[in-house]
Amino acid sequence: MREEKIPPIPNLGQRTDEITIYAGPCSVESAEQFDEVAACVKGLGLHWVRGGAFKPRTNPHSFQGLGEEALKIMKASGEKHGLFTLTEVMDSAHCELVHSYVDGLQVGARNFQNFSLLKKIGQVTADSHKMVLYKRGFAGTVAEWLAACDYISDCGNDNIVLCERGIRTFETATRFTLDIAAVPVIHKQSLYPVCIDVSHPAGQRDLVPSLAKAAVAAGADSLMIEVHPNPPAALSDGPQQLTPEQFEALVAELRQIADVLGKRIV
Ligand code: PEP
Ligand code: MN
Repeated sequence: MREEKIPPIPNLGQRTDEITIYAGPCSVESAEQFDEVAACVKGLGLHWVRGGAFKPRTNPHSFQGLGEEALKIMKASGEKHGLFTLTEVMDSAHCELVHSYVDGLQVGARNFQNFSLLKKIGQVTADSHKMVLYKRGFAGTVAEWLAACDYISDCGNDNIVLCERGIRTFETATRFTLDIAAVPVIHKQSLYPVCIDVSHPAGQRDLVPSLAKAAVAAGADSLMIEVHPNPPAALSDGPQQLTPEQFEALVAELRQIADVLGKRIV
């Protein structure tokens, strides 16, 4: 029998002992709504709150976000609770505006290959080095994703987090198919941290805990989880958002898994 020399498995996904959670509503709808979630996030000892100000809606007649008003709400709550804030920037024309209000800029799945937006975000964050959370497109390969990171980093900011948020496959039981293997694959091929957005692939809130636990177990560096004080009344993505109580219970479970791995949820 031919003897095969198997190389040692590299230490995948063990770059840091902290797993960051980016939690918050899909859309910022009012100061009260956002602040309730921010207070919950702070109460759990987490550091980042997310929210949509400019929303990439499939249908132009759906709620498009509160725009700059939402950015003001996020900044006020972030300062009040001592939290970092993260929001999506959809348009090159909004980069400076969004950058002036928040701590992290998100590139959404629909802008995966909007290279002029990626370049503009790289330029706008070149001095501040604010985090850019760069989501994978529905039909983007890992190779395309990693290649496009250079549009951002070549402009001066390599503080990039790659966020897997589900891809489109033949399967329709979930909103998107979560490619959990993206975590070890990216860890093998790049030095960027990997975030798993567990809400958008799930599409339904009862699936969120399983995906979140799988993401922690797979070695994700961070998780994105949508949380709304009253999901049935949400102006976007109601079915997949957790209530603050459900989120609290999930964070407790995730902390147990993180403990086993010698990691901390922050
Ligand atoms: C979001 O994070 O609210 C969002 C719109 O995500 P995606 O771009 O992954 O659909
Ligand atoms: Mn959403």
